[in-house]
Amino acid sequence: MSTQTTQSIDSAILDSLAAADPQVADIVRAEAERQEYTIELIASENHASPAVTIAAGTCMTNKYAEGYPGRRYYGGCAHHDQVEQLARDRAKELFGCRFANVQPHSGATANAAAFMAIMEPGDTFLSLVLKDGGHLSHGMHLNFSGIFYNPVHYALHYDKDHPQHEQIDYESVRKAAHEHKPKAILCGYSAYSREIDFAKFREIADEVGAVLMADIAHIAGLVAAGEHPSPFPHAHIVTTTTHKSLRGPRGGLIMTNDEDLNKLINRNVFPGVQGGPLMHIITAKAVAFGEALKPEFKAYQQQVKKNAKALASAMTSNGFRITSGGTDNHLMLVDLTVKDEELTGKEAEKWLEDAGLITNKNGIPDDPRSPMITSGLRLGTPATTTRGFKESEMSTIAEWINRVIESKGDDSTIATVRGEVKSLCERFPLHH
Ligand SMILES: *Cc1c(COP(=O)(O)O)cnc(C)c1O
Repeated sequence: MSTQTTQSIDSAILDSLAAADPQVADIVRAEAERQEYTIELIASENHASPAVTIAAGTCMTNKYAEGYPGRRYYGGCAHHDQVEQLARDRAKELFGCRFANVQPHSGATANAAAFMAIMEPGDTFLSLVLKDGGHLSHGMHLNFSGIFYNPVHYALHYDKDHPQHEQIDYESVRKAAHEHKPKAILCGYSAYSREIDFAKFREIADEVGAVLMADIAHIAGLVAAGEHPSPFPHAHIVTTTTHKSLRGPRGGLIMTNDEDLNKLINRNVFPGVQGGPLMHIITAKAVAFGEALKPEFKAYQQQVKKNAKALASAMTSNGFRITSGGTDNHLMLVDLTVKDEELTGKEAEKWLEDAGLITNKNGIPDDPRSPMITSGLRLGTPATTTRGFKESEMSTIAEWINRVIESKGDDSTIATVRGEVKSLCERFPLHH
């Protein structure tokens, strides 16, 4: 055990856990070490604050609180009413909207409830397909969204000479909307590095009488801090996760400005797709929203964006290609094939993990390879920015990535980089 981890709050909690269940405590302790000494570049991950983690670990987990504040199906909910109301109020203030449902267990569950609020089974909706950067809950054939609804898709520009190559083709959105007359249009993505024009989406939705749903799961932290344009007032319904750039506990959230739609949302979260809410997680959401309302959070999100730009430009200097030519947010997609046609995302992810650089393979637009192989890597900066990295650490990371990849996974190169990664992590301890 390192001194840093020993001093951390997780460790104090782990000591009590170890006394009760050493077997589980050992597993969690090993994970705490992994997080401490590796560099987290997965765009959808972050390190929640000690306050968030502590809140999630409290006795608030013990309560059944089916229903909503003031209208529960169980007695003894006074404190749960207070904390859920606080979480709602903070979410509304943070995103500047009238209604918030803080109960969804996850982003995918939030989307299921949102779909039920705005569509009937079998209805058509328009979204970006998974392989172009969408999410599986936006119509993948094995997901509820593809099983119970009828997804149709808009496209990105695929033309190397087009100034918006690999960015959303709003004319394709308009064309598909007029052709299919969808009940809903979805925007918001999992692997898209450019700003989303919510006003333009709303204009198109209005042309065909569709509901506009914005899923800001990835960019919620940037939106909350005013570092990405807000989906309000354009979107009718907004869903998000709370654990990605927003840096809260793992969970979901649904928001709207429309009173009637809010009633449908509430009914479709509970009893529609969920039973009892996770009250310990709602408690932690309240804490996370409180943190996000502070001025430090704005500074954090500004640094997230600066770091993403620095990492993208350092990757480009090292001979990689960033799809769409760059990033406006917290993430980027790296096309590996310009470096080496044979190189796959799968291999690169494995070599980098061995070196202590945690990434995920990801298809690039028009990727000929399967999602289990891919030609790209997705890199994001929320987690590294939380641990205090700035632009100069981003250049170092890009150089490490390049060394590992150019060595084609050579063992001694990986071992050297692993040592350097560990030293950098020691200089930037996590405060978990
Ligand atoms: C991550 C993500 C989700 C789903 O979140 P889970 O909490 O994993 O269910 C939904 N939509 C988008 C766009 C995402 O990126």
